Amino acid sequence: MKNINLIILGLITLFFSVSCGNEETAVKACFTTSVAEANVGDEITFTNCSGNAASYTWDFGDNSSIATDESPKHIYTVAGEYIVKMEAANDKGVNTTSQMIIVAESPISTAENIIIVGAGAAGLAAAKKLEEKGISYQILEATDKLGGRIQKNKNFADFPIDLGAEWIHADKSLLNYLINQPGTEPNVETVLYQPLDVKLVVDNNVSQIPTQEMVDYYADYITEYKFKNTTWFDFINENFTQNVAQNIVYNSKVTSIDYTGDQVVLTTENGTEYQAAKVILTVSVGVLKSNAITFTPSLPAEKIAAIQAVEFLPGFKLFMKFSDQFYPDVIAIGELGGEKSYYDVAYGKDAQDHVLGLLAIGNSTEEYYALANSDSIVSAVIQELDGYFNGQASQYYLGSYIYENWTQQTYTQGTWTSDFESSSDDLNASLDDKVYFAGETYNGYGFTPVQGSYIIRGSVQSAILSGYDVVNEITE
Ligand SMILES: Cc1cc2nc3c(=O)[nH]c(=O)nc-3n(C[C@H](O)[C@H](O)[C@H](O)COP(=O)(O)OP(=O)(O)OC[C@H]3O[C@@H](n4cnc5c(N)ncnc54)[C@H](O)[C@@H]3O)c2cc1C
Repeated sequence: MKNINLIILGLITLFFSVSCGNEETAVKACFTTSVAEANVGDEITFTNCSGNAASYTWDFGDNSSIATDESPKHIYTVAGEYIVKMEAANDKGVNTTSQMIIVAESPISTAENIIIVGAGAAGLAAAKKLEEKGISYQILEATDKLGGRIQKNKNFADFPIDLGAEWIHADKSLLNYLINQPGTEPNVETVLYQPLDVKLVVDNNVSQIPTQEMVDYYADYITEYKFKNTTWFDFINENFTQNVAQNIVYNSKVTSIDYTGDQVVLTTENGTEYQAAKVILTVSVGVLKSNAITFTPSLPAEKIAAIQAVEFLPGFKLFMKFSDQFYPDVIAIGELGGEKSYYDVAYGKDAQDHVLGLLAIGNSTEEYYALANSDSIVSAVIQELDGYFNGQASQYYLGSYIYENWTQQTYTQGTWTSDFESSSDDLNASLDDKVYFAGETYNGYGFTPVQGSYIIRGSVQSAILSGYDVVNEITE
C-alpha cells in the first residue's frame, strides 16, 4: 500500500512538474516591426516572435479587418498614430502585446501622381530617376519633341550639328557620372576643345592671339569637350529616354497650375486637366519670367522677385556652309569668351564640310534682331566676315544656313543663365511642398566640384543633376 501511495505521490509530483513546466511554455505574444515610423502607402512587415502560440490575431488600429497570419504585412492609407495589438493564443490561454506605429503623410500617396512639366534635360533626368524608383509619372511637353534646348540637325552637313547646347563644360568623365556609369572614359567619342588658332576682333581690328596665350588661357579655364561624331541630343536620347519617352504627352502646353488643394491641378492650352500630388516644373527661367503659366495661389512675392532678378540671356546660333575654310578655329568679337564669337563647328570632328557658327547672346544680338529677317542677318554677317577676311566669306559661302533663334522660341524665351549672383533659395523653393522647380532655378552645384568639374549653372549637367536631386527631395 505504501508503495502504491508512493507511486501515486510520484505521479502527482510528475503531474505538478509537467504543469510547472507548462508555465514556462505559456503563450507569450511578441512582434517586431520593419519600421517604427512609416509613410502612407509603405508596406510594413510585422515579424512574429511569440512563444508557444498556436494562433494570432492582429488589429492594426485603423479599422481594417483583423489579420490572422503569423507575420502579416500591412499598408496604412491615412496618416496618424496607430496602436497595433496582437493576441497570441494556444489551448491554454491568450497573451496580448501592442506597439505604436507612426504613419506620416506620404509625399507620394497614390500611383501615377507625379507630373513633370517639360521634356528637356532636367525633366527627362527626373523621369529617369522616378523610373528607377518605380514611381509612376507623366511628362507634359509643350512642343512635339523632347530635348528642350538640346536639339540637333543631321542633314545640314556631313556631321550632326548641335542647335542648342554643344559643349561639355566639364571633363569628359562627367558624362559617366551623369548616367551613373563607372569609370572615367565615356563610351562615346569626345574631343578635347582647346582651339589654338584664335583671332580677336576689337573695334574691327583683327589680331591673332599668340598660341602661348591660348595655352595659358586653357590652363586657367574649365576643361571643355565636344562630342566627336554625335551630339548632346544623342547623349540624352540614348541615356534618358528608355521607358521614359512613352510617358511624354506632347503638344501639352501647361497654362495654369492650381496648387490650392491636396492635388495640384494642371490645365493645358487645349483645356485638358491633369491632377498630381507633386509637380516638377522644369521650364526655363525665360518661360517663368514671361508669365506663360498662371499659378493659383499666385507665386509668393519672394519667388517672383527671384525670377525677375535672375538674368536670362537672349541669343541665337547661325550656321553657314562654306566651300573652303578661310577662318580660324575661333573669332572672338570684343573679348575671348564674350557675348559673340564665330567658331569652326567642325573642330575635331570627322567632317569634310566647312561650317562656321556664330553664337550671339546678350547685347550682341541687338544689331541682328533689328534686321528684317534671317536672310538679312546672314547678309550682314557675310559682310562683316568679308571685312575681317578680305572678301573670302562671300567668295566661299555656299548659300545655305541654319538660323536658330532661341529668343523667339516660345517655350524657351532665350538661351541660358550663367548668373550666379542672383541664385537664391527663393528661386528654387517649392510651392507648399507640392510644386517643385528643377532646371536653372537650381544652383546646388555652383561651387562644388563633381568629378573634378564645376557644375556650372545653365549647363546641361546642372539641368540633369537638378532633375535627379528634385526627385530625391520629393521621395526621400
Ligand atoms: C544656344 C544655346 C547654347 C547652349 N550651349 C550650351 C553648351 O554648350 N553646354 C551646356 O552645357 N549648355 C548649353 N546651353 C544650355 C543648356 O541647353 C540648358 O541649360 C539645358 O538644356 C536646360 O535644360 P532644362 O531641361 O532645364 O530646360 P529646357 O531644355 O528649356 O527644357 C524645358 C522644356 O519645357 C518645355 N516647356 C516650356 N514651357 C512649357 C509649358 N508651359 N508646358 C509644357 N512644357 C513646357 C520646353 O518645350 C522644353 O522642352 C545652351 C543653350 C542654348 C539655348
